[in-house]
Amino acid sequence: MSFSIQCAANNVWYGTFAHFNNIGICHGLATRIGGLSEAPFYSLNMGLRSGDDVKKVAANRERFFQALGIAAGTVVSGQQVHGDTVAVVTERDMGRGALNCDGLPGTDALVTNAAGVALMIFFADCVPLLFVDPKRRAIGACHAGWRGTAASLAAKTVLAMQQHFGTEPGDCLVGIGPSIGQCCYEVDEPVIACYREAFSWWEDVAIPHGSNWRLDLGQANCRQLEDIGVDKRNIVLSNVCTACNTPLFYSYRAEHGKTGVLAAVIRL
Ligand SMILES: [Zn+2]
Repeated sequence: MSFSIQCAANNVWYGTFAHFNNIGICHGLATRIGGLSEAPFYSLNMGLRSGDDVKKVAANRERFFQALGIAAGTVVSGQQVHGDTVAVVTERDMGRGALNCDGLPGTDALVTNAAGVALMIFFADCVPLLFVDPKRRAIGACHAGWRGTAASLAAKTVLAMQQHFGTEPGDCLVGIGPSIGQCCYEVDEPVIACYREAFSWWEDVAIPHGSNWRLDLGQANCRQLEDIGVDKRNIVLSNVCTACNTPLFYSYRAEHGKTGVLAAVIRL
């Protein structure tokens, strides 16, 4: 099981998870390579609100969808607010937030069991997570920064799949994509206080660093998923740091906020 990056025929570079590919789940996590945007957004910027030319962003999204063989009219995204709301998406939502800012309001996680509906999330340091329940035929996607991770959004996404589609957490396959790594993610005491309160294992994901801490968001998401019964063997953690790899990924922190946004898409 692994995460690897490939180049599509239209020169868009994107990553996929082998355990999803093995069961024919269409998905991809964009890199910044293969789009039309210019510096500091070079080049496959997916963020309509990043200050980039919105026509280029829409064209970049089209290029990404084309690379995956997905029609823009089937894609749904949320207007992300670093909250913990999980939206249940149906065919009626198709096209919302695909090429415009009309995504589901206040939504950081999406789940569906509708075949042909593609879920899209955005990230640039925060953790992108994709979920597949091959038994009940359902999928999910969420992005979790320090707030979403502390609020257990990844776990809530799986529990929403359980509530609405009958998903057993133990059946769930999970892919955790590139995000800022513990090597680069320094946080202060108030952030760690949230983790201390939320998770008994907080010391396993936080290393003291001067008066601050270095936080491992990817591992924190793994652990909270294991807590609700997701099998560790079904989780692939890409372990790729966006901040260490800015030629390939956008990093909000490493590029001081002047950068683009990455996207991940999944479809049953
Ligand atoms: Zn790093």
